[in-house]
Amino acid sequence: MVRPIVLYSAPILRRKAQEVYLHDPSLPQLIQDLWDTMYNAEGIGLAAPQIGVSSQVFVVDVREVQSPNEQPFKSVFINPRILSATSTLSIREEGCLSIPGIRERIARPAEIEIEYYDERFALHRRHFTGIVARVIQHEYDHLMGRLFIDYLSPVRRQLLRQRLKRIAAGEVEVSYPLTSYVA
Ligand code: ZN
Repeated sequence: MVRPIVLYSAPILRRKAQEVYLHDPSLPQLIQDLWDTMYNAEGIGLAAPQIGVSSQVFVVDVREVQSPNEQPFKSVFINPRILSATSTLSIREEGCLSIPGIRERIARPAEIEIEYYDERFALHRRHFTGIVARVIQHEYDHLMGRLFIDYLSPVRRQLLRQRLKRIAAGEVEVSYPLTSYVA
């Protein structure tokens, strides 16, 4: 089911999400709703707090934006932990379905090691690079109550202040349903 995406400034996007009980009967529906909502908004990643559920789950499907030499990647991440990240950074433009219309160049560790459960409760410990590593870090941040704009310089943030205010007020034009307040 497509659910409305929670807009920037809603308190739920600033809270650390709860760890998930793997056998929670509502988990399969949550995962399905994340996929439905993400594809409907033409996103490449979506975290549970963005659909109003403060749980440590996110989905990633970057197949459309990967370069041909990369292994096509699509996965569900449950209770993920980033175990390590390289000090080497990569800079790339990022956006967020909860902050429509804003795209900014963000520096992030180029490679990460992460442990997570998939939807069949299999535990993975994997190393990621490139666009996959970037999207995973962006979505992982959502579970920690962080947003990509937190990495901007104070000057850059100041320049975006009015636009962020308008987004927070719901003054955005997008093709997917939004909700502006979720506690
Ligand atoms: Zn986001």
